[in-house]
Amino acid sequence: MSKLIRSEGIVLRTRAFRESSKIAIVFTRTSGRIDLLARGARRPGSRFGAALEMGTEASFIYYERENSSLWTLSSADILLSHQTLRETPATLNALARVLKLLYHISQPGVLNSGLYNFTLILLNAMGERESLSALYDLFLWRASALSGYPPCVDQGCLVCGKPDAVNFCIAQGGFLCAAHSQAEEIIRFNPEERKILANLTNVPVSEFDGQIPPILSRLIRDYARYHLHAGVNIIK
Ligand SMILES: [Zn+2]
Repeated sequence: MSKLIRSEGIVLRTRAFRESSKIAIVFTRTSGRIDLLARGARRPGSRFGAALEMGTEASFIYYERENSSLWTLSSADILLSHQTLRETPATLNALARVLKLLYHISQPGVLNSGLYNFTLILLNAMGERESLSALYDLFLWRASALSGYPPCVDQGCLVCGKPDAVNFCIAQGGFLCAAHSQAEEIIRFNPEERKILANLTNVPVSEFDGQIPPILSRLIRDYARYHLHAGVNIIK
């Protein structure tokens, strides 16, 4: 038994398969991460055209088969190609880093429409703006939250509620007052840095000013590595 499915998805990566085909790994809106067999995709004039370029968002129609994790792609219509991101080494590198993390945190059959939507907004911003490194950090911060590890940055000490705590604990995901924190597991921020961190948690991408101080950039990367179980090979 096989059934026909349609879903929007973002191409994470592809690899050659047999003589003329490709396997595309796609992060879909409705089925999580899937592997699609695109028959003949490496032949000139293939009907899949440019829809399988990494970072492209397309509407995919595919056959889902029982007892198989490799599904057969029937058609792919480009919704947003994100072509500009593949045109310079800097944007291509940023795109690759985002897709690599998405590959790492997405799973077959696990839906995450919040992460899907945020990724689309971010890829659009990366094509239009220059602050690629800061946008990547913003992606890490929000992807951590959208994957079930929301940092708690807008309230007092996680233990006693004391306001204006400035010691951030990555493992606990929030601020602790002096009485409830141990020096070896916290990073100290001043109130201004704390404010920026809180803003990064919910600022719309269109209003993001592209500024993240180095100390916060380091924290965001450490936070994402810790909670998303991503090594330095995934988050550089
Ligand atoms: Zn406390």
